[in-house]
Amino acid sequence: MSEVVTRFAPSPTGLMHLGNVRTALLNWLYARKLGGRFLLRFEDTDASRSEAEFVEALKQDLLWLGLDWDGDALFQSKHAGQHQEALDALAEKGLAYRCFCTETQLGLDRKLATSRGLPPRYSGKCRKLANEESLQRAASESFVWRLAIHDTDGEVRVPDALRGDVIFARRDLDDPVVVRSDGTFTFLLPNAIDDAVDGITHALRGDDHLTNSAYQVWLLEALDLSVPTYVHHGLLLGEDGAKLSKRTGSHSVAELREDGLIPQALLQAMTRLGHPNIADDALQIEDLLQAFDAEHISRSSVKWSNDEMWRWHTRLLHHLDGNALLPLVQAHMPAANIEFVNLVRGNLERAQDAAHFIRLLDVQAALNEDAQAVVNVAADGFYATALQLWNDASEADWKPWMNAVKEQTGCKGKNLFMPLRVALSGAVHGPEMSAIVDFLGKEGVTERLQDLLDS
Ligand code: GLU
Repeated sequence: MSEVVTRFAPSPTGLMHLGNVRTALLNWLYARKLGGRFLLRFEDTDASRSEAEFVEALKQDLLWLGLDWDGDALFQSKHAGQHQEALDALAEKGLAYRCFCTETQLGLDRKLATSRGLPPRYSGKCRKLANEESLQRAASESFVWRLAIHDTDGEVRVPDALRGDVIFARRDLDDPVVVRSDGTFTFLLPNAIDDAVDGITHALRGDDHLTNSAYQVWLLEALDLSVPTYVHHGLLLGEDGAKLSKRTGSHSVAELREDGLIPQALLQAMTRLGHPNIADDALQIEDLLQAFDAEHISRSSVKWSNDEMWRWHTRLLHHLDGNALLPLVQAHMPAANIEFVNLVRGNLERAQDAAHFIRLLDVQAALNEDAQAVVNVAADGFYATALQLWNDASEADWKPWMNAVKEQTGCKGKNLFMPLRVALSGAVHGPEMSAIVDFLGKEGVTERLQDLLDS
């Protein structure tokens, strides 16, 4: 088999959202798994909406996710000449025609068809125009270009790696518009021509493109160009079962990055959707790649869960070594050092949770409400006794100190641990007390107890 070539082909008209991530990831996994190439192509023919700023943002997001592409990024607008040649060739063969029908006319036709219980397809009126008349009218009237696909006979076969050939009867297909009245191409033609020009062997995209694929296969075959194998994956749905959109809680990659998400957490949650056979301990992207099975891409829609992504985030956070975790924590707590990070890491769901333990670094850090409540109910003289016993001890050691405080104050269980935990760490949950005491050392514990007594 020849080398596999896939592509991610976003239109640079907005930021990268979760739906784009899924398509990009599947194309990347497919190519990398099969030792092929993964291309990045910006479909920037809609000049009024495409922006250089989004091109940069999309690239940054892909790189942040580790989805590297081969060669330079490609731009659809650079192939404008080829798109025009393709249209000319189709027109020459009588397979593309100008349509002069007005919006009003089309609206009436649609209404008529629907009232007869027929699908609202184009009537085919302008298809019958003679070339001369078409040219003549083009000089003064507004028109679009359509492909002459609809027919009473024949079929179009869309090769699909997950479904086998998907067969469309031409009687069920429309004559789609390929050039708008302002002269710009719609998505269909440039996207198909570029796939042929770029040597794409496999196009992975959502199954909402299935009918587009039928039009595109017809077009490529009409021009004797190679047809990629399509891999139409099921759509990504929100937790409410509706197509994932901003409204249903889809975040942009930029937002997730700002929230401090570990990029691999997004890859984990995304790759595993509809792919239940990936072992739970496949934590690295190489492991995911190893486990990824192109034949198991889900044909049915899959449901996204932000919670699941953040669960992966926490798991991966716990697997990071201290040096990798340190900058993530420092982004929220510049004073954090490696010893502190290693002490609290097991108690973090997100890097910013480290701020709960600020008192480990800053004696004067104010207590939060929960912590203050614990201090308020501590027995009278509790902290004075605890400090006295700490000062009397020859070594900075949790166990003997705790036993001595227990004996002197008569406090036990929660009433013993909590006030000490809060005094030293500022939080009601956290690392083992023995580890906290070791971290703070003799002086650190003294300072924190004294601070409470002074306040
Ligand atoms: N630019 C198209 C889109 O973003 C590409 C679709 C495709 O993958 O072919 O939907």
